[in-house]
Amino acid sequence: MNYIAQIREAAELIRESAHCYCLTGAGMSTESGIPDFRSPGGLWQEIAPIKTSSAEVLYNNPRVFYEVAFTRFARITRAEPNAGHSSLARLEQMGYLKGLVTQNIDGLHVKAGSQRVWEVHGHLRSGYCLGCQKRYPFEFLVEQVERQQIPPSCPSCNHMLRPDVVLFGDPMPPLFYEAWEELAGQCDLLLVCGSSLVVYPVAELPALARKLIIINLEPTPYDHLAAVVIREKCGRVLPAIVELLEA
Ligand code: NAD
Repeated sequence: MNYIAQIREAAELIRESAHCYCLTGAGMSTESGIPDFRSPGGLWQEIAPIKTSSAEVLYNNPRVFYEVAFTRFARITRAEPNAGHSSLARLEQMGYLKGLVTQNIDGLHVKAGSQRVWEVHGHLRSGYCLGCQKRYPFEFLVEQVERQQIPPSCPSCNHMLRPDVVLFGDPMPPLFYEAWEELAGQCDLLLVCGSSLVVYPVAELPALARKLIIINLEPTPYDHLAAVVIREKCGRVLPAIVELLEA
């Protein structure tokens, strides 16, 4: 199938589905200037994220966590949604998308206007105290780190603060199981955008859908099960699908 036929087929499947959901990964945000993990030039080639973004590093070596992983997180908050994010928000607004599960912590789906979003690896809008659990805006942590107060601490009880993201070694949050149940009960079509589908347990979600559309630059382990596989950029494919559905 050529590219035009693939776009048409994808739009048709979305039009016909009753409960279409979307699953996004880091590839969704590369066009917003945020590197993914596994592409050439991705973060895994820079410094293995597991060495800086893990719960173990946060608890045992907070300086490394805050100077490397957290500083990268802080940069991500300056990114803006791209045409792919806006198109997914539009698909939900048009009634075609029932909800969106994302592995991304960048918050760009929320910024783009998507309403039903399960950010299953957390987000960069807030943090909390490991002692009294009090929540603070993410900016509050950033301000302390910029003043070299590392690790940032809670003004009420002086314990360390951490961002609301799921680090390597953290358990998955209840939100993940909520998304799992919703997909298992309802999903007749899952639109996968920009994910290598190798990071578990999120990579188990496509198995819950009755049909799959995969938009990803590189092959994924689910390609042979998908109704349509499009090896193109999300920022090109998604607006084209919206255009067909609006016509
Ligand atoms: P991944 O890096 O494993 O895979 C990304 C995939 O996206 C790759 O296969 C790549 O070919 C593809 N891709 C890159 N740019 C694309 C584009 N414009 N259009 C279509 N495809 C594109 O990422 P993953 O599957 O999300 O899993 C890894 C983990 O990365 C997740 O746990 C996630 O939390 C974390 N992560 C998140 C961010 C973010 O918040 N933006 C950034 C880096 C990593």
